[in-house]
Amino acid sequence: MCGIVGYLGKPDRAYDVLIRGLKRLEYRGYDSAGVALVTDDGTLNVHKAQGKVSNLEQKASLGDTRGALGIAHTRWATHGEPNDINAHPHVSQSGDLALVHNGTIENYSVLKQALIEHGYEFKSETDTEVLVQLIDYIHRNNHCSLEEAVREALLQVEGAYAIAVVERGNPDRLVVARKSSPLVIGVGDGETFIASDGTPIVGYTDKVIYLKDNEMAVIERDKPLRIVAIDSNAPSEIDIQELKLSVAQLEKGGYDTFMLKEIFEQPETLRDCLRGRIASDGRVVLMGVEMNKDKFLNAKRITLVACGTSWHAALIGKRLLQDFCKIPVEVEYASEFRYGNPVLDDKDIVIAISQSGETADTLAAIQLARQKGAFVYGVSNVVGASIPRNTDSGTYIHVGPEIGVASTKAFTGQLTVLTLLALAIGQLRGAITKEQVKQVTDALKEIPETIEETLKVNDKVEDLSKIFTYAHNFLYLGRGYNYPTALEGALKLKEISYIHAEGYPAAEMKHGPIALIDAEMPSVIIAPSDSLYDKIISNVQQVKSRGGAVVAIVSKGNHSMEDIADHCIEIPAVPECLTPIIASIPLQLMAYYIAVNKGKNVDQPRNLAKSVTVE
Ligand code: GLU
Repeated sequence: MCGIVGYLGKPDRAYDVLIRGLKRLEYRGYDSAGVALVTDDGTLNVHKAQGKVSNLEQKASLGDTRGALGIAHTRWATHGEPNDINAHPHVSQSGDLALVHNGTIENYSVLKQALIEHGYEFKSETDTEVLVQLIDYIHRNNHCSLEEAVREALLQVEGAYAIAVVERGNPDRLVVARKSSPLVIGVGDGETFIASDGTPIVGYTDKVIYLKDNEMAVIERDKPLRIVAIDSNAPSEIDIQELKLSVAQLEKGGYDTFMLKEIFEQPETLRDCLRGRIASDGRVVLMGVEMNKDKFLNAKRITLVACGTSWHAALIGKRLLQDFCKIPVEVEYASEFRYGNPVLDDKDIVIAISQSGETADTLAAIQLARQKGAFVYGVSNVVGASIPRNTDSGTYIHVGPEIGVASTKAFTGQLTVLTLLALAIGQLRGAITKEQVKQVTDALKEIPETIEETLKVNDKVEDLSKIFTYAHNFLYLGRGYNYPTALEGALKLKEISYIHAEGYPAAEMKHGPIALIDAEMPSVIIAPSDSLYDKIISNVQQVKSRGGAVVAIVSKGNHSMEDIADHCIEIPAVPECLTPIIASIPLQLMAYYIAVNKGKNVDQPRNLAKSVTVE
């Protein structure tokens, strides 16, 4: 979580670059924002404000924003409440150093105690302030350079960090480092950028270096960039890559919000996701599978690890893999898996799913799985992120940057890739026939158009949303492939409208949640015409008999639900395994409009952030 940006370059340009960068990173956290600038004569100016970057802008505009060097931060608080004092950058007691940090310092209280004994006083409740004071202490006591002090301090730190540090009196140097939190360096012409991801760098340069775990970099004016390993100080190779992002991809494109834009761009994003992955004879071609045939042929079990929305995609992935590959599949929350002493060997495949490719728990889970000998496959969106770089192989979902905090297009991209993956593994293992593969890939090829068709429910869902805006609780029910769709529908509503919602397997409802149903508690039932349709009809009857209102998502042309449910939303008919992709669309829209009706900020819901890079 949290976003950091840094700049060293042209006269008085730092502030603008940093503010623009923070706005692009705001999806990562918006508890507070801050900037530290070093003017050409070496003065260090720090501005901080609680809340959004716009608050910071207002405050900073009254002060000194000159300088060609600076660092900035938008916070998602882990230690200490979101207020001005806890906002980054944190400044050392001497006033010499300013630092921004993404991550958590696990041994901060031990370090803090030791520093207090050395006469340091702390202003904030953050773990981060410990880091800046520790660097300051080492810098002064060892009479060493800033980079040496940073390196020494990091050797004492346990936890996760991406940091950037500047020093009063030195307008020409920026020191950065990372462990388990992402950091990208943008190499421009006479200027260097650093950021948590590529978005603040787009438009300035397309040359980037992804700092690797346990590396630090010293960026100095008119000197070559230096990257070294934190533990050994050994120089690392500098690998400049192309940043494949455009400014247009980062803008709202005429929509009121990023979330609505992202819902409506799903036909296009799934076209991109599918491109080149289905051969003319209907076979699936995934390089990650082709290049690792032995692993997939010899696998005895597949475990999917993920968090949040990606975990819901994983549940659907389990069903796809079981149906198409006839192989045992397990699904684990990454945060549980990593501490659950998993039993794995070289016949195991672990598939990690994460939109950002930076999810801290998922990253730790795959590192553990690899240590235990498993073959690890990644399904991510952000090219070059930590998860794709720490897996044996993988497939990108290629849906473009997702800025809305509540995931929409990444979820349908994950489902599309998981379908392709299950088909690719199934055809390799001979678990399904060519005809079966072709039947699904024919429908997949049509999926962008099918979603265009599905999006026509927009007006109807917007109207319906008005009826339910002030409900306090919702139940989402589905079966089979669409039980996880129900979980995802409930999560969307919770995330952006703050209405309590529970997703449940429809048949399980009678074992408990049915007690909650009354006229005040609407149920959303995902009931496409699939193999469990008749079963779910009885579950709907059970809700209706207790006076609950029912909104049913049904396949076009199936009118049998009309007499039972209060409202039906029709979606195009697709093969059963693809129904979650299609059924998700009205659920995304329903959550969206209810949140908008309630006046909520759908792109930046409270307490959430997009890329969960802390445990
Ligand atoms: N642990 C730091 C804080 O609470 C940084 C959190 C973050 O990465 O968002 O201020």
